Amino acid sequence: MRESGGGAESSLATSPLTLTLTLTLPMTLPSSLWSRCILVLLVLCVGAGAQSKLKLDKPQKIKDWGYSIRTLEGWDSIAIKPEERFVVGHWKLNTDEMRKRGLYEEYQAGSYCDLSIIRISTVTVTGKQKTEEELKKEKELKEKLKISPELEKLLDPKTFDDLLQAMHKDCDKRWIRKPFKAGKIEGELIEFGADAEAHTIAYFKKNGVEWAAWYQAFEEANRKTYRDWYIKSLETFDLFEPVNSDVIAMARKDPNKLKGEEKREALKASIAGTPGWYAIDAKHYVFLTNSSNKAFLQQIAKDLEVVREKVYMKMFPPRNEEEPISPVRVLDTESDYYKYGGPQGSAGYFNPRSGELVLFTKFEDVTKSNSMAYCRSVMFHEAFHQYIHFAVGDVSPHSWFNEGHGDYFAGMTVKGGVIKFEPFDWRVGFLKDHIRDKKDLIPLRSLIRFPQREYYTNAGLKYSQGWALIYYLRQVCKDDKAKASLDIYFKYVADNIESFRAKKKEEGDNDTGGESVPGIPGIMIPDFEDAEKVKEILSKAVDTAFAGIDLEGLDKDFRAWVEKL
Ligand SMILES: [Zn+2]
Repeated sequence: MRESGGGAESSLATSPLTLTLTLTLPMTLPSSLWSRCILVLLVLCVGAGAQSKLKLDKPQKIKDWGYSIRTLEGWDSIAIKPEERFVVGHWKLNTDEMRKRGLYEEYQAGSYCDLSIIRISTVTVTGKQKTEEELKKEKELKEKLKISPELEKLLDPKTFDDLLQAMHKDCDKRWIRKPFKAGKIEGELIEFGADAEAHTIAYFKKNGVEWAAWYQAFEEANRKTYRDWYIKSLETFDLFEPVNSDVIAMARKDPNKLKGEEKREALKASIAGTPGWYAIDAKHYVFLTNSSNKAFLQQIAKDLEVVREKVYMKMFPPRNEEEPISPVRVLDTESDYYKYGGPQGSAGYFNPRSGELVLFTKFEDVTKSNSMAYCRSVMFHEAFHQYIHFAVGDVSPHSWFNEGHGDYFAGMTVKGGVIKFEPFDWRVGFLKDHIRDKKDLIPLRSLIRFPQREYYTNAGLKYSQGWALIYYLRQVCKDDKAKASLDIYFKYVADNIESFRAKKKEEGDNDTGGESVPGIPGIMIPDFEDAEKVKEILSKAVDTAFAGIDLEGLDKDFRAWVEKL
């Protein structure tokens, strides 16, 4: 994933507080990337000029939001993330061909090509007025948390200029800003460079709403290739009365702060205006997808609901009494997934902050039936993270437990409501190779203590051993005490997190897992005392779960089983 660039998208989405749990692919990715690099050397000179024929696409009329624009041909509509609260349209140049043909330079430059449509309402939303007391409290909290005016502008911009200047400091000192006319509306054209990007923005105001159509290109490719076409495209921008004012009202709400049907509606509203997207409802889930295989999506939504009730809830009774509505985003292709922000080398992720789990249906260089099987495995893995995080109250257990169970469920098959647990072949394959190459395994006494950060280094082995440990304890091991360790661990974590939260509540502190800042949507300040307490609970949970178990003896039996896989 490219870190710079992406403009509105990446800057708004890349919060320092965002933590994701990912499922890593087996070892195929690095080698295929390598083969792409080799290809580059061979075909680089052929690549020049492949991007020379630019053309405007047909008009994109986004009825829900009330705007239209002709983007460029070969650009795809991209899903908007829940946290991108001011983005109402997003397109990117499709670089799949460049990547597949090994046109590495073009691919790099092309991946900067981005169009975001920003909409900021400058009219205060009518509703409950804040009391003076509330405003005072809000101000004190902001001072206490040392929220800079810049961060505040970024998270809660009152105008487009706020957002622009918060994202690109001093852009006003280097921009060219002049009147601009697009069809029937008059506005301004703003151009400046930042990092390696050239920005070309058309900005308009109408009826208390500010609009920006914001193009970006790699700075070296801007003037000679893109800028004139960007301006031609921006000249086609037009506004009309939105058809769906409910969507506008719902989509600006933060789904994380809503519950039940209201949350469901807000999640669905978040895909309004993204061509090709639709929602599928299940009791506890809302699937948001652009998959071309609707029947498959309907099937997996149904299966996930079954697994939630028959597996997750049975094995890990929730301590949280509410009935959650969880978002599952399923992108059609692997390339869509990376464009959405999926980490390179991962096959899916769960974002505890937004509560969203993200998957894709079409793996590159994989047959259709394998792709669907992978997608299901990844879904059951990530959905477990999502479930357990909810079930114990916004806390993720140790990675060997969390990832190990995720992979345990990834190996599960569901057919006609019948569930079977099979070894997860990604991890079995890895371990077989590992043993054949006469490499070391990690001692159990270390494996069960790794914090999440350490688990992600040399992740292939840790994930594989984590899966193996859970599978071994649940399906193979004959020692009752060792088998019980998993339930003891879960119970200890759940009980202690529950009583810790209850105690805090009694003391008049209502927050859960962090402090949300009133008046500044979208920010959670982690409570460091809480984080320390959670670490302590997790550590004691391992002590308790394995108390009285001969860990070295268990390690020996476990290794013997792994070696025979
Ligand atoms: Zn995972």
